[in-house]
Amino acid sequence: MNKSLLRQESSHYFIEDVKLTDIAQKFGTPAYVYSKKHILDQINFLQNALSDIDHLICFAVKANSNLSILKLFKECGCGFDIVSGGELQRVLTVDSLNSKIVFSGVGKSVSEIEMALNNNILAFNVESEEELFRINDISQRLSKIAKVSIRVNPNVDAKTHPYISTGLKDNKFGIDETSAIKLYKKAAKLDHIKITGIDCHIGSQLTDLSPFEDAFIKLASLIDELESNQIAVEHIDIGGGIGISYNNEDISPIDFYVQMIKKYLLKYNKKIILEPGRFLIGKAGLMLTNVEYIKKSEHKNFVLVDAAMNDLMRPSLYNAFHEVINLSNTQDSNDIFDIVGPICETGDFLAKDRNIKANQGDILAIMDAGAYGFSMSSNYNSRPRVPEIIVDKDEFYLIRERENFSDLIAHEEKFLK
Ligand SMILES: *Cc1c(COP(=O)(O)O)cnc(C)c1O
Repeated sequence: MNKSLLRQESSHYFIEDVKLTDIAQKFGTPAYVYSKKHILDQINFLQNALSDIDHLICFAVKANSNLSILKLFKECGCGFDIVSGGELQRVLTVDSLNSKIVFSGVGKSVSEIEMALNNNILAFNVESEEELFRINDISQRLSKIAKVSIRVNPNVDAKTHPYISTGLKDNKFGIDETSAIKLYKKAAKLDHIKITGIDCHIGSQLTDLSPFEDAFIKLASLIDELESNQIAVEHIDIGGGIGISYNNEDISPIDFYVQMIKKYLLKYNKKIILEPGRFLIGKAGLMLTNVEYIKKSEHKNFVLVDAAMNDLMRPSLYNAFHEVINLSNTQDSNDIFDIVGPICETGDFLAKDRNIKANQGDILAIMDAGAYGFSMSSNYNSRPRVPEIIVDKDEFYLIRERENFSDLIAHEEKFLK
């Protein structure tokens, strides 16, 4: 697992059997590039690790929602974890009969709930009492029975970046344990609700997986309490959050995670649902960018590239680290550079304080950008979104074309007077 995406051969870098500079030449920069094999290997790896457990992997669509990528996950038998009507429609576009969708998120709207009910999703992960009643009302109006899990907030510290920690009691997500039991009892009395599961997602990018232990212990004690109240669940959804190494962080071995599932949850004999995103695709993608200028001053040196915070937001948003490799020049440098984009914001950086030797026209790879890369991108500064390309052995092809100026103004032009 997490094998290196890049292979170096003499002075060239390859993904599978494709030279990266060939991709840059054909489709230009900036561009996202993914390896099909890397994604498949990672899914297989997780499926094998879980082979003794009755489980369903629901890929977290928000990590990477490209249709061709979703299709790949579908073909591997995965379900999907969605957080919006838009994500639901994306999944249905590649898998119109999908019954393996779990719907998370604190703010599900009426129309999103209707759409989900009409498509018979596997479960709503309910995040508040008001949401439960709203789902029951809509479900009654549509003569449906909504299958629900309640998302429990176990108040455990995921020890990750505060913006992606979701299981602490002051986060907006889920319901505390005491209230969850009360809500389950209310749910059990609603005519258009069927309780099918219990759910928990404590955060993202956990490198130390031990916080899951606390979460699983709390889930187990909740299940015991539910059972003593004659409330049975069919599945236990343990969320996503398994981290990847961006900067040589130590990641707990996946076996440790699997052993914890077995130790605390297997005895209930329920299906275990997982919602991994980053773990499955984070290291399978990178972003190519071209060096436009080198700017040196007494205090600070900059490599100015053609990609920016709108294309890859993680550095600006979370101060996240992405390794940067100069594909055109592998020499070491004695100088330290920030790698920055052309956007008019000081927060527009892709990497800080890197020892890198670069010249105008070099192609850089911003590594580990397969998750929360393209899916978080925007058009800020009227920058068309960049293309996405997938490599399959010695072939590579577009799975999303570069946007153009017409795309940018498509919804405004008709209002010009
Ligand atoms: C974001 C999210 C995930 C996926 O998180 P990863 O860290 O990418 O595995 C899973 N479940 C929920 C509810 C989420 O919000």
